[in-house]
Amino acid sequence: MMRIEFLGTAGATTTPRPGCQCRVCVQARQRGVPYSRSGPGIFVHGPDVLIDTSEDIIQQLNRAGITRVAAGLYSHWHPDHTMGRRVWELLNVDFRHWPPTGGTTDVYLPEQVAADFGRWLGLQAHFDFLSQQGYTRVHTIPDGETITLGEVCIRPFRLAASYVYAFIFEERGRRVLIAPDELVGWEPPEFTRGVDLAILPMGVVEHDPLSGGRRIPADHPVLEIEATFAQTLAMLEAIAPERAILTHIEEQDGYSHDDLVEIAAALRAQGRQVEFAYDTLSVDVG
Ligand SMILES: [Zn+2]
Ligand SMILES: [Zn+2]
Repeated sequence: MMRIEFLGTAGATTTPRPGCQCRVCVQARQRGVPYSRSGPGIFVHGPDVLIDTSEDIIQQLNRAGITRVAAGLYSHWHPDHTMGRRVWELLNVDFRHWPPTGGTTDVYLPEQVAADFGRWLGLQAHFDFLSQQGYTRVHTIPDGETITLGEVCIRPFRLAASYVYAFIFEERGRRVLIAPDELVGWEPPEFTRGVDLAILPMGVVEHDPLSGGRRIPADHPVLEIEATFAQTLAMLEAIAPERAILTHIEEQDGYSHDDLVEIAAALRAQGRQVEFAYDTLSVDVG
């Protein structure tokens, strides 16, 4: 069985966002989960794979009570998905014993992610350091190849924004699609059809799903570089999963957890089965 745990369900902007006094952030500060959202991160129990490491990852692993991370996987180089990379040191460090008894974690980078780590944010330099210290072993997954961890086959594949990867996790015929971010321009390929669970980023909300009112100016450049919520729903229609959960929910979109519950109910009334993730949500597949 695979258990997918949402460690963090924010996008690039967490809820609360430092300094922000909007109603969503104020509520999140007062009430915590499910109103607060930390940086994007997903853990797949079973193969015990961690996907992406936001700057909140250390607290997320502690909160989840996760004691074993067998491997790490990165979807793309963007800072909201990578800036917590020191977690590999904290998981494995041991400076009390000699020789040290700490472990080494396998970290897998899809082909383009490995190339981008060489170009952005000092990522490769830091991973070289982590590997020299014995905390990580970094592997590149060439495009078209899969990796197998335990009973689970993991297939990375590029999205339309070709520096970003999504993953199919497959175990005994049960399939989970995990796309952490950046769906702009994507047309779901045939092999994603009918997955048991699809996890997609929510997209930016151009029009309010309840009132239809415009929330982002029509000429705003963000609409060129991000998929919208409506486009994401159309992708889900093409995938036709058994269950769909949306994550990577931006504080900037201005919806509280309660708002999203209401939106999901309204969509359900139209025959669209969509759920919104919240931090700590766990879902079993298989
Ligand atoms: Zn992101
Ligand atoms: Zn706010």
